[in-house]
Amino acid sequence: MSAFPERFDVIIVGGSYAGMSAALQLARARRSVLVIDAGQPRNRNAQVAHGFLGREGMPPADIAAQSRAELLRYPSVAWLSARAVQAEVLEGGRRFAIACDAGQRFTARRLVLAYGVTDDLPPIDGLAERWGRQVLHCPYCHGYELQQGTLGVVGCSDDGGADQALLLCDWGSVILFCHDAARIDPAQKARLDQCGVVIETTPLQRVEDQATAVLADGRRIVTDALFVAPVSRLACDLAEQLGCALQDAGCITADSAKQTTVEGVFACGDAARMAGNIALSVGEGALAGVAVHHSLVGLLD
Ligand SMILES: Cc1cc2nc3c(=O)[nH]c(=O)nc-3n(C[C@H](O)[C@H](O)[C@H](O)COP(=O)(O)OP(=O)(O)OC[C@H]3O[C@@H](n4cnc5c(N)ncnc54)[C@H](O)[C@@H]3O)c2cc1C
Repeated sequence: MSAFPERFDVIIVGGSYAGMSAALQLARARRSVLVIDAGQPRNRNAQVAHGFLGREGMPPADIAAQSRAELLRYPSVAWLSARAVQAEVLEGGRRFAIACDAGQRFTARRLVLAYGVTDDLPPIDGLAERWGRQVLHCPYCHGYELQQGTLGVVGCSDDGGADQALLLCDWGSVILFCHDAARIDPAQKARLDQCGVVIETTPLQRVEDQATAVLADGRRIVTDALFVAPVSRLACDLAEQLGCALQDAGCITADSAKQTTVEGVFACGDAARMAGNIALSVGEGALAGVAVHHSLVGLLD
C-alpha cells in the first residue's frame, strides 16, 4: 500500500531540472504536488555540468540532490521514486490518473510531463561507454574544457555531420568522419574546406582509449573528444496515451504557457523542446508551474 494520499492537485512525471522547477512554483503556491521520478536524468553520465548559472561545473548528481532537498522542505510536496507507466484522462478531462510500475495509482487535477528524452547513439563500438565523457553532443555544455584540441565528429546525421563540424570549429581543429561524403551538400563542403575541417571517408570502426578513432584500414586517429548527433526520443509514451499531439521532431507540442493540446496537461523541459539544456529546462519548468497554478484558479486564458 502507498504511504501517500491518492489525490493531488498536480502530478509531475519526471523529477529532474524541469519537473523540480515546476514543483517548486506549485509548492510555493501551497498546492499539493506528487513528483514521480525514475532517477535517470539525461546528463547522468557527465561528470560535471556547465552553462547553468550559479551551479557552473557542479556534478549533475549534486545539483539534483541539492535541488531535491530544497524542494522537499515544502510539506505539500511528495516524492515517489518510481516509473509512471500509464496515464488516463478521467471525468471528461477534470482529473487525470497515473499508474506506476509497482502498481500504485494516483489522480490529480493537472499533470505536468517533464520526463525528458533518451538518446540513441550510432552503433559504433566504444561510443556508448564514453557517452557524456569523451563522446559528447553539445559543445556549449562541454566544448570549452577541450582547450581547442582535436575534435572528431561522427557524421551519422542526414547531412553527414557537416553542420555539427562547422559549429565545432570555434572549439578546436575538426576531423569529420563521414564515409558517405556524398551526403555533404557541395556548399557545405566548401565551407568545411574554408574552415580547415578534415574529412575522413574511411569508415570509423570503433573507439578506443580516451577517444581514439580506429578506422577500417587500421589507422588510429587520436582526438580529445568525439561529437555525435544522437537520435533523441521521448523517455516514455504517456503523452501519446493521453492523446497529446507531438511535434515533427518527436517532442510534445506545448503552447507559450507549456500547456499541451490536451487541456490540463502541461509539458516542459527536453520532453517539450528537443535541443534543450538545464537552464532552459529550469526556466520552462517555472513557466509551467506558474501556468498550472493559473489554470487551477481559472486564470489561464
Ligand atoms: C551527455 C549529456 C551531457 C549534458 N550536459 C549538459 C550540461 O553540461 N549543461 C546543460 O545545460 N545541459 C546538459 N545536457 C542537457 C541536459 O541534460 C538536459 O537538457 C536536461 O537534463 C533536461 O532536463 P529535463 O528535466 O527536461 O529532463 P531530464 O533531466 O532528462 O529528466 C527527466 C527525468 O524524468 C524521469 N522519467 C522519465 N520517464 C519517466 C517515467 N515514465 N516515470 C517517472 N520518471 C520518468 C527520468 O528518469 C529523469 O529523472 C547534457 C545532455 C547530455 C545527454
